[in-house]
Amino acid sequence: MSLKGKSAVITGSNSGIGLGIAKELAKAGANVVLNSYTDRDEDHALAREIAEAHSVKANYIKADLSKGAEARALVEQASDALGGVDVLVNNAGIQHVAPIDEFPVEKWDAIIAIMLSSVFHTTATALPLMRKAGWGRVINIASAHGLTASPYKSAYVTAKHGVVGMTKVVALETAQEPITANAICPGYVLTPLVEAQIPDTAKKYDMTEEEVTQKVILERQPSKEFATTEQLGGVAAFLCSSAAEQITGTTISVDGGWTAL
Ligand code: NAD
Repeated sequence: MSLKGKSAVITGSNSGIGLGIAKELAKAGANVVLNSYTDRDEDHALAREIAEAHSVKANYIKADLSKGAEARALVEQASDALGGVDVLVNNAGIQHVAPIDEFPVEKWDAIIAIMLSSVFHTTATALPLMRKAGWGRVINIASAHGLTASPYKSAYVTAKHGVVGMTKVVALETAQEPITANAICPGYVLTPLVEAQIPDTAKKYDMTEEEVTQKVILERQPSKEFATTEQLGGVAAFLCSSAAEQITGTTISVDGGWTAL
């Protein structure tokens, strides 16, 4: 499969799953825009490394996706830089864990803004560009928590269920066009977002970090293995392939059997 000449914007892609997806799409030939809310030399260096490794164009564009105007500007700037936006991967995310009656309001607002409202803003801005190009792929990185729930993750589970719902609406609104919208629902993938939860959980349950990994984090993942960022990138690339033309409005779980339980 070749994505040569296609342009892809991946939100939250200076790390973890987003970076893995950017690399796999570039490997398939797509020009890519990386994004996060920082503007460090290493962010731009990541884009240069991808460009050199895969002989594609790659830019890094700073945008704080907690702000709707910046989410919209990201897509516009990406289109200016690459000559269009054919693939939009909504991936940026954060986490906060607390019982709902103690959940800090500012964390709730940030999670909903970054993980749900930004998906509305980027999609609304990208769809007219996809229509103009006559081809488009919207790929939302939801979660097993877009299909099931866990205690103490009220904002995250709400945002991810919302993203799955929005995916279905976008798919129906584009059903008769050469545009698809799907959500990938990973179980646990070992990225900074997950690694950051290990030391606190170890303290809370008086366990070693290895015990936390196997008994707490991977407890719900029947395979007892993390999914990898390369695997997530491969699934995103598949959704851009012609084999996936009739796959729209659905979720693809990459969760080692979690949601089969
Ligand atoms: P990560 O922390 O490595 O990456 C998150 C990315 O989002 C980073 O690039 C970060 O800079 C960016 N980001 C955060 N706030 C932002 C903001 N305000 N504006 C712009 N960018 C912002 O985490 P990850 O595990 O790679 O997570 C990526 C996505 O995958 C998230 O949506 C997450 O919910 C989802 N997910 C992760 C797992 C997992 O196990 N790691 C499982 C299911 C779903």
